[in-house]
Amino acid sequence: MYKKVYKVGVVGAPNVGKTSLFNSLSGAREKVGNWSGTTVERVEKRINIDGKEIIFVDVPGTYSLSASSLDEIVARDFVLLEKPDLLVVVVSSVNLYNSLFLLTELLEMGFRIIVALNMYDVAKKNGIKIDVDKLSSIFGVKFIPTVGRTPRGVRELRNEVINAINNLENKSLVDFKVPYPSPIEKGISRILKVLEDTKVVASRNPRGVAIKILEENNLVMRLKVEQNNLSRQMRDIISDVDRELRMLSVDDIDTAIVRSKYNFIDKVLKDVIQVSPKRSESIQRKVDEILTSKLWGLIIFLGIMFGIFQLVYYIGDPIARLIEEGFSYLSETVLSLGKDFGWSSMFISFLTDGLISGVGSVLVFLPYIVVLFLFIGILENSGFLARSAVMMDRIMTTFGLHGKSFLPMLIGFGCNIPGIMATRVLSSFKDRLVTVLVLPLISCSARLTVFVVVTAALFKEYQGIILFMMYLLGIVLAGVFGIIFRRNIAKGEYSLFVMELPDFRFPSLRVLLSEMWYRSFMFVKKAGTVIASVVILVWLLGSLPLGVEYASGDSFLGIIGKTIQPVFSLTGFGDHWQVAVSILTAILAREVVIGTLGSVYGVSEEGITEVLPSVFTPLSAISFLVFMQVAMLCIATVVVIANEIGKKWAVFSFLYTITLAWGLSVLVYNVGVVLGL
Ligand code: GDP
Ligand code: MG
Repeated sequence: MYKKVYKVGVVGAPNVGKTSLFNSLSGAREKVGNWSGTTVERVEKRINIDGKEIIFVDVPGTYSLSASSLDEIVARDFVLLEKPDLLVVVVSSVNLYNSLFLLTELLEMGFRIIVALNMYDVAKKNGIKIDVDKLSSIFGVKFIPTVGRTPRGVRELRNEVINAINNLENKSLVDFKVPYPSPIEKGISRILKVLEDTKVVASRNPRGVAIKILEENNLVMRLKVEQNNLSRQMRDIISDVDRELRMLSVDDIDTAIVRSKYNFIDKVLKDVIQVSPKRSESIQRKVDEILTSKLWGLIIFLGIMFGIFQLVYYIGDPIARLIEEGFSYLSETVLSLGKDFGWSSMFISFLTDGLISGVGSVLVFLPYIVVLFLFIGILENSGFLARSAVMMDRIMTTFGLHGKSFLPMLIGFGCNIPGIMATRVLSSFKDRLVTVLVLPLISCSARLTVFVVVTAALFKEYQGIILFMMYLLGIVLAGVFGIIFRRNIAKGEYSLFVMELPDFRFPSLRVLLSEMWYRSFMFVKKAGTVIASVVILVWLLGSLPLGVEYASGDSFLGIIGKTIQPVFSLTGFGDHWQVAVSILTAILAREVVIGTLGSVYGVSEEGITEVLPSVFTPLSAISFLVFMQVAMLCIATVVVIANEIGKKWAVFSFLYTITLAWGLSVLVYNVGVVLGL
């Protein structure tokens, strides 16, 4: 006998309490974690309620259906491929702005949904009032306040799930619509027409499918478009929509759809949420008050961060030196091995000049990153960071940045890459976007190496002041562009800053270590693969055509240098193609600049201080430093930005910083010339 088994998926953003609710709903005992990424695989549990077989599925967290990472793909595939009978969409009461995005997507797709308004206790504690009935009526589905950690808080949700399962057949579809700009609406209608004519979409809400096609969602394209040979027709529609849209605004289709959804959510929330902070008398509240106060909070925070930075270098330096020695030993070994075995000098140069030194120059940063992330992990998991973020919020909002942006910026001084990765602590995409876009303006330690060498060669007496000015330039520009981006690209943010202040606790070593390992691994993997391939490219350009001296004027690298040289003619440092080449290799990593100059001028890194005064005038050196400070040249940073927030933004930040850098250099140089410097 066939008996229907009902599938109920528990979905939502990371860390909103899905697994907790899944456990309470199904009686399972899955691991609950206080960081994102706890559930990376789907977990299911089959139970029998009232004679009905129900499979509950715990799905990895995702903010949207446009999956990018593996766990998000697991979530997307579950929702789109397995056709669950019912979805329990878990949203966080203290972060509705971000939680509701996925809900709007799922509603558009026509799923049957019950919303668990989780973390309701935290909202209450923070004095956040949510009009639950209004939410339910706006979205057309039930919102049920829940407290995931306690079974009691889930009873109503459980009843509602059973109720919904019993009434699956006789419930009509919710008519839910987010309004989109007219070109998109027109595109939706055209796609719907095609789908209807070809009878591709039978069930659920076709409008949702049409929107996913406009977004060119991989999975939907594969299932609905490619399999039915509709690619050409759909592409035509998509490019029409894109063209019309660009006449109206700067947005592409994806951005316009995302923006419309957030605008919708924004409007809803202004109507539904009321915040009235409560005072509590406990000791923890007192401590919280001090830690979140502008003066003492700031002093304590800066003190702790200062200590951590000291420790990072204290612990990191010796390890970094070991790694450096390891790599130079490796390089020597390869060299002598190569000679013994009679390898071609070309191949040996590839291994030593190219691969080993290139990859080595990146891996040298690893110890700093590991140590830094370990300490950040401690601050984060102990609950300290949440308090500092509240404290910083006021100061940062003046610059269009979010309180939590503070930490990534701080990390960015060490290296922009972990800083950009650290923006993951920002839960709103727009906050992340603004922070990531200005982060490359923050002076990193790789820039420091260039500053140190150039100032040592040309400005012995003013070294400190010039260094300071470069750092200041970065900070000021980050502030200015923070405001500009906030006003233009990322406006309309629902920037109510509600932060759950978690109880203080001892961070668990296991959590710390696994987080640290994961982050370091990602760094090595992403930076390593990319760096290695760019190294090969640069090395090739420096060694070809065959027989040429490595990185000399006749090599392709030299030819390219001479080609781009004119670009820098207005900046004052365009007289030497070698400088252009060094800037080009800075794309690999900024530290390489000095090495490149050394190698193209045929001197060691120490000898470079003697060569530089003949390459730069003091004025053109300043102009060069400004360029190096402002331009985000580093390819690893570009890749990380692409991975974190998208390829488009990676290209954008590369272009805007390089344009800005060029403009400022031209300005500095020419003003200097006019002033007779
Ligand atoms: P998931 O990533 O969505 O699966 O979230 P988890 O179920 O792993 O929960 C994340 C964290 O939030 C855990 O520390 C839970 O104990 C906690 N948590 C879950 N639900 C609630 C709730 O309603 N209130 C409070 N205060 N904490 C919750
Ligand atoms: Mg989970």
